[in-house]
Amino acid sequence: MSKRVAVVGTGYVGLTTALSLAYIGHRVVALDLDEAKVRALKQGNPPFFEPHLPEMLSLVRDRLSFTTRYEEAIPGAEVVFIAVGTPPSPEGSPDLTQVQEAARGIGQNLGEGFTVVVNKSTVPVGSGNYVEALVRRAFQEAHGGEVDGRFAVASNPEFLREGQALYDSLYPDRIVVGAEDRRALEVLRELYEPILEQSFPAPAFLPRPERMGAVPFLTTGLASAELIKYGANAFLALKISFINELSALAERVGADIQDVARGIGLDSRIGPRFLQAGLGWGGSCFPKDTLALLAMGREYGLKLSIVEAAREVNRRQRERVVEKLLSELKVLKGRTLALLGLAFKPHTDDLRESPALELARLLLDRGAFVRAHDPVALPRARREVDLPLEYAETPEDLLKGADAVVLATDWPEYRTWPWGELKPLLRTPLVVDARNHLDGKALARLGYRYLGMGVPALA
Ligand code: NAD
Repeated sequence: MSKRVAVVGTGYVGLTTALSLAYIGHRVVALDLDEAKVRALKQGNPPFFEPHLPEMLSLVRDRLSFTTRYEEAIPGAEVVFIAVGTPPSPEGSPDLTQVQEAARGIGQNLGEGFTVVVNKSTVPVGSGNYVEALVRRAFQEAHGGEVDGRFAVASNPEFLREGQALYDSLYPDRIVVGAEDRRALEVLRELYEPILEQSFPAPAFLPRPERMGAVPFLTTGLASAELIKYGANAFLALKISFINELSALAERVGADIQDVARGIGLDSRIGPRFLQAGLGWGGSCFPKDTLALLAMGREYGLKLSIVEAAREVNRRQRERVVEKLLSELKVLKGRTLALLGLAFKPHTDDLRESPALELARLLLDRGAFVRAHDPVALPRARREVDLPLEYAETPEDLLKGADAVVLATDWPEYRTWPWGELKPLLRTPLVVDARNHLDGKALARLGYRYLGMGVPALA
């Protein structure tokens, strides 16, 4: 049954949610205070890079509209998603200013019927109660009178991965909804039914995965849903940190961490994913969410040692790359280093807390010149990055006169660069592959010296 939905915030999560819900048949109004973003979206232009957004925008044109005004989006909506940013504050807990503003805007404009207000932003435990109080107060201030029974708050954490946001939204591993109000759970079950049952026709550009069955719908209390999101992200982060810590040991004892990871990951209790040694994790979620989890622990008098250790190991990974370069080149001052990749991972132009940028900063601090390439993130880097980087559009411009190549983001195309033809451009044919992404043996045959993370050096 088609529902009227409003989505507040048109970032990675908000826009993806709006598009998928419109695609499965709901009528959606997406709201953002950023006028330039809304103008671009109205013209069918996504404000950031994410696969298939333009195609999806044109497919759902009839059911999805954009606005900057709460008065337009909220009153008619049966379900309102809050999908605004929750960036880290200096103390580690998320800054909830955008959530507060969204809740206020929603409360002031609540419609006549029953509205489910859904927290999709990642917010600390207790935020559901907080949003409920903010919506209630804003309604009372604007209209006076009681608001009981007019709305309920639910938590519906988002698990999408940037770079595959639409895919994850249409074909999720699970949908988690937390609420204290039974009606809210029921409304959200109905809203998601086509996804839960996988009863919608798959878009041609995003075929349904083979063996996809019904999607589990997990209903919980508010606090559990809020904690599930932090627990999931922290667990993924510590899985990566675990293999990274082991990769340092593998290097010392002469083991190959890729073989070790394969051997560990074939155990069905462990699984092979998130066991790739490399430069460590970054992006807009893991760093912020692990920090928030630690802050939550502190608030309740608990030290979350494993999460703390995962963060420390992650920080060390960047330093390990610098140490490799130092031991090969001896002096970094005045060297030109060619950095492959700036985005925090492939298939996105998101630079938030990118490991590549953190590595670049360490190298600049050591007096090196850093020249960087990225297949999609260069325009954004030129606008947003405040480091004195040089930017190169082509492999030739990147590598000319460089003292070493450092791979920081595992974009698939880097594997197919013509490394043989490019080699004469380099001053030293040294590759430090901080993601174990390139074909080290092939590079060694071409005359490069190849260093990875936790794998034997070649040539
Ligand atoms: P984002 O910064 O890309 O987007 C937030 C959007 O909200 C921006 O467009 C901003 O202009 C808009 N906004 C801010 N205040 C507003 C207001 N008062 N009213 C209307 N719009 C407003 O953020 P994101 O990456 O989409 O993340 C949103 C939330 O989802 C965060 O809590 C994040 O932790 C969580 N999350 C993100 C991801 C991810 O991969 N990006 C995955 C899962 C969960």
